[in-house]
Amino acid sequence: MTDTPEAGISKRRDTILAQLAAAASPPPVLVAVSKTQPDAALEDMLATGQRVFGENRVQEAKTHWEDRRARFPDLELHLIGPLQSNKAEDAVRLCDVIQTLDRPKLADALAAAMGKTGRRPRLMVQVNTGEEPQKAGIAPADLPALLEYARKQGLEIEGLMCIPPVGEPAGPHFALLAKLARAHGLASLSMGMSGDYELAARFGATHVRVGTALFGERQ
Ligand SMILES: *Cc1c(COP(=O)(O)O)cnc(C)c1O
Repeated sequence: MTDTPEAGISKRRDTILAQLAAAASPPPVLVAVSKTQPDAALEDMLATGQRVFGENRVQEAKTHWEDRRARFPDLELHLIGPLQSNKAEDAVRLCDVIQTLDRPKLADALAAAMGKTGRRPRLMVQVNTGEEPQKAGIAPADLPALLEYARKQGLEIEGLMCIPPVGEPAGPHFALLAKLARAHGLASLSMGMSGDYELAARFGATHVRVGTALFGERQ
């Protein structure tokens, strides 16, 4: 019998959960990155019991999850892509965790949106560990000032997130992020994607963001 797509997704998820459990105790939370996936794949993933999802665009997150929330009240939606200040209110209304706070202006916008909506999504700061000019995230040297600024705006930061440079070993970036989190007393570490989630788990990730290894290739 050939696998149905649902059976394939379920198997891949079981494998990844087992690998994460073998790599770290407690294992990191598996954030299923559902960007660009068709509705059928979202439904198949929900059928496995998966409830934590990541999206990198606010608009697509709305299309994917706004209505499904009603059916799955235990859904936990993470924004993992760059956030424009003018979309902060939409993100605050929709998301449970925003992983990509990376500048003072966005801290202002999030604080304002939280005040207006009464919603307080959990927050992580994205750190540009490779100091790549084109990449989102705060430079490591500027992290203390941003954390301080965010706290002054009444924002509670629970952790750090990074996306290591493509083509470089990820280990040193994971180690740096873990060190920065320890230095600032932050509990959560979002790091590791399809190619390196086990490595990230061994470096102390509390959240891994996995797309292709879970869903198959994006369409
Ligand atoms: C797309 C994306 C992922 C998942 O990438 P895969 O390699 O498909 O696992 C993780 N993190 C971020 C920020 C992403 O944009």
